[in-house]
Amino acid sequence: MFDFVIVGAGFAGSVMAERIASQLGKKVLVIEKRWHIGGNCYDFRDENNILVHKYGPHLFHTDYEDVFKYLSRFTEWEEYHHHVLAFVDGKKVPIPFNLNTIHKLFSLSLADRLEKKLLETFTYNARVPILELKQSTDSDLKFLADFVYEKIFVHYTAKQWGKKPEELDGAVTARVPVFIGRDDRYFHDSYQAVPKNGYARLFEKMLSHPNIKLMLNTDFKEVVRLTDRGGFELFGQPFSGKVIYTGMIDELFGYRFDQLPYRSIEMRFETRETELFQEAAVINYPNDYDFTRITEFKHIHRVKTDKTMILKEYPVPYDREHNIPYYPFFTPGNRKQYEKYREHASTWPNLVLLGRLAEYRYYDMDDVVKEALGLFEGTIK
Ligand code: FAD
Ligand code: UDP
Repeated sequence: MFDFVIVGAGFAGSVMAERIASQLGKKVLVIEKRWHIGGNCYDFRDENNILVHKYGPHLFHTDYEDVFKYLSRFTEWEEYHHHVLAFVDGKKVPIPFNLNTIHKLFSLSLADRLEKKLLETFTYNARVPILELKQSTDSDLKFLADFVYEKIFVHYTAKQWGKKPEELDGAVTARVPVFIGRDDRYFHDSYQAVPKNGYARLFEKMLSHPNIKLMLNTDFKEVVRLTDRGGFELFGQPFSGKVIYTGMIDELFGYRFDQLPYRSIEMRFETRETELFQEAAVINYPNDYDFTRITEFKHIHRVKTDKTMILKEYPVPYDREHNIPYYPFFTPGNRKQYEKYREHASTWPNLVLLGRLAEYRYYDMDDVVKEALGLFEGTIK
């Protein structure tokens, strides 16, 4: 009945389903354990007509033209440039930490000296990871690096990961570099926008092909079984098509090499009786409170109401009974543990692993879409 089974209806699963159904004319069964599609990108309108991102703020940004064009088949866009402020020493200052931030936090003479030093050392608009800036030997740059490390990174990272920046793969903190320029935007990609009517609508359109059958509220274990000899059963019958799996790889293999580490977040939403709560869509609190950031959704999708919805994110350890594995825990040791699973997975020639959980990668949305399109063109087609 089906040529492909896809586990998960996030970007990884939905792009694959759409491509296979529309380009190959094959029948696809998509299995999703949640009651909705879209994975962690799911959004909905609350009672005040505010478009809320259920699993934390999702801002689309990419340098991949092909990804933007592909997604544009399923949505119109609203141009949106994301700005984030960080609450530091009683002031709200732009991050990524940049030349404007320096001038907001230091006296004019010190700010000018630091700016001059940065521009002598790095090219204008360079993106310098904090762990690289920390290696500076020049006394001014060292002062600046220690300041940024202390005020922006070390306590936020302790909250988010329970670790110091240097205990994580350098790519984690490099996502928010020190920016040697004056562009205050959080991202510097050439395409930045949000789906005009939200992500959920985009996913609905993507999955609307008649060759796609969607089963919500269904865990893959209820319908798919891995057999010892590298095969699959679907509804208790041998299944010889491909299984594209976008969930956690450790769960797929019954945690045989132990549970992979993830980090979770407790998302606390609050409706506030005020037109606007804060100055920007996201304000980070590196040094204060137990949450990392507050998002106010009205800044992302403008809507006229006298109430507003905010979200505070409290990072917590991942616990598979109670919360969601939002973040793969990106350290070299954890990657090795993942590789064991990956090697084990090679016994199943028809198994394809794709997405943030199955590949255990800190993917943004565009990375996942890029990977899915590449996999379709390179392997599936
Ligand atoms: P997911 O969206 O996690 O989808 C996987 C799906 O598989 C889920 O629906 C899950 O329920 C389902 N599934 C898992 N196991 C099973 C099972 N056993 N049976 C059936 N179904 C199963 N990216 C950006 O580009 N910009 C942002 O601003 C941004 N902000 C983010 C903020 C937060 C708090 C988080 C956590 C992520 C953010 N991301 C952002 C990243 C983005 O969410 C991911 O890149 C994207 O969702 C990954 O898609 P995916 O399909 O790989 O995974
Ligand atoms: N980070 C930080 N302070 C900040 C913002 C980010 O220390 O104000 C670090 C932190 O370790 C975080 C990482 O940079 O986990 C990546 O931040 P990003 O905003 O990309 O995280 P995401 O939006 O994926 O949660």
